[in-house]
Amino acid sequence: MDLRPHIRDVQDFPKPGILFRDITPLLAHPEAFRAAIGKMADHYRGQNIKAIAAAEARGFIFAAPLALELNAGFVPVRKPGKLPFETQSFHYELEYGTDTLEIHTDAFAPGDKVLLVDDLLATGGTMNACAKLVERSGAIVVGCAFVIELTFLKGREKLVPYDVFSLLAYD
Ligand code: 5GP
Repeated sequence: MDLRPHIRDVQDFPKPGILFRDITPLLAHPEAFRAAIGKMADHYRGQNIKAIAAAEARGFIFAAPLALELNAGFVPVRKPGKLPFETQSFHYELEYGTDTLEIHTDAFAPGDKVLLVDDLLATGGTMNACAKLVERSGAIVVGCAFVIELTFLKGREKLVPYDVFSLLAYD
């Protein structure tokens, strides 16, 4: 199934000059949503993945059904102050300023195989922060999966040496 017709282009969001790829039409279409999850699951099936981890908020939407499909757990990666238990943080650079993501300290056990998921790969900063949080726990990043990859931003290069998989590429 072609997922591209279910992605809406929104000009000048969230700022003038930005072309935003809106996934809400795909989410509203059960066949397209199911197809997206199925394609991701097919790519990673049989790899004994222990957990799917994703950063809030759009990453959660794809990670939770994918976790059930792969019989894996779901681990939320969140903005500071949102997780109730003990956390560890990763600070990373943005174009202007810095940002922080957190996980629970008991989210992963050493050696766990973890798949990271997000809706879209732009510069790779968000996914790289998630990967570092996983590795600091002693767990193993088996891959980084995206619905959409903006190839012109070369986020893949930031994610070397991780295996990057995307369903749709925009250049
Ligand atoms: P990066 O950290 O790779 O630069 O940015 C990726 C993050 O920003 C993802 O978590 C994604 O949800 C969000 N993002 C950036 N641009 C877009 C866009 O055009 N569409 C969507 N759906 N998300 C975007």
